[in-house]
Amino acid sequence: MISFYPGPSRVHDEVPRYVKDAHKKGILSMNHRSEEFMKLYEQTVNLLQKKLNVPKDYSVYFTSSATECWEIIAQSLVQEQSTHIFNGAFGEKWFDYTYRIRPSAQAIKFELDSDLPENLSIQSNELICITHNETSNGTCVPLKRIKEIRLKYPQHLIAIDTTSSMAGTRLDFSQGDVWFASVQKCFGLPAGLAVMICSPTAVSKMKQIGEKKHYNSLVVIDSMLQKWQTTYTPNVLGIYLLMRVLKKSKPINEVSRKTHERYEAWAAFFKSSKHIRPLVKNKRVQSQTVLALEADPADIEKIKSRARKKGLLIGNGYGELKSSTFRIANFPALKKKEIKKLMDFLKLYR
Ligand SMILES: *Cc1c(COP(=O)(O)O)cnc(C)c1O
Repeated sequence: MISFYPGPSRVHDEVPRYVKDAHKKGILSMNHRSEEFMKLYEQTVNLLQKKLNVPKDYSVYFTSSATECWEIIAQSLVQEQSTHIFNGAFGEKWFDYTYRIRPSAQAIKFELDSDLPENLSIQSNELICITHNETSNGTCVPLKRIKEIRLKYPQHLIAIDTTSSMAGTRLDFSQGDVWFASVQKCFGLPAGLAVMICSPTAVSKMKQIGEKKHYNSLVVIDSMLQKWQTTYTPNVLGIYLLMRVLKKSKPINEVSRKTHERYEAWAAFFKSSKHIRPLVKNKRVQSQTVLALEADPADIEKIKSRARKKGLLIGNGYGELKSSTFRIANFPALKKKEIKKLMDFLKLYR
């Protein structure tokens, strides 16, 4: 079965071989306080910096999921109020989780086909939360807009959920303070690990707040990082697999170019379609990594079930868009011939 699900998604072909290697090399029972683990952590961080263009002075932490990152941010980087700007289900979930920890969290919603607004009525001067790639509806906030928000709100920390874009498209880490993603989307790895990348400003803010009530309090995680250590037994296998995949992957600019070409090919493919339309009409805010497509609910059911019989797993719509849309991942682990197979199949229903 070829998975076009936008997460958990198709893993890189080499993953089973890497798992075997991990077993042979004793990684599966590696002690996380050992010298070997410290080396693995350091090596993986170096590769992330090199392959994804993460600035050298940014700190890289491992957590278990993007959801955990939402909570860590609410606990350790917000004192009173964060501002959440979103147009879809993941941005809203981030707000909901934060709201339970910081009840004065502010939500600003915007429309599906509009740009994330530049003029915001932000109530506090703490933290702005943006979902870069909204996996539920296939929208994306252009990097240019993030830069504009940065210029306009220089006093705020900016946190950006890049779960379905990091490692798939180029990001400009200098324009934000907290960037995070779990690895079961663009990284092409099994779930259970996430990376969280913090700017020096975010690090000094977390120290100034000094919140230490949780096993995953960020200052504690940061102090462990100084010794290439973690606060709990981490997903060592996940980190090892990430290291191996990064080692083999092309620099992000090259990956990003390929993602863009494939996205353009999909856009052209659906342009001539009568029955299937992109949910998002404004190309400027269309996601390059997750395609959300709209069609008649009965057609969608038919397409999904027939695709499955052909060994093609198409993503369901998410949340309230479940029956009116379906989703196709445009993640790097997918192969050219697999995309062609799905296009050839969808030609029958266009
Ligand atoms: C998948 C996803 C999440 C949740 O990731 P978990 O690893 O399940 O916590 C959060 N945000 C976005 C944008 C996502 O696509």
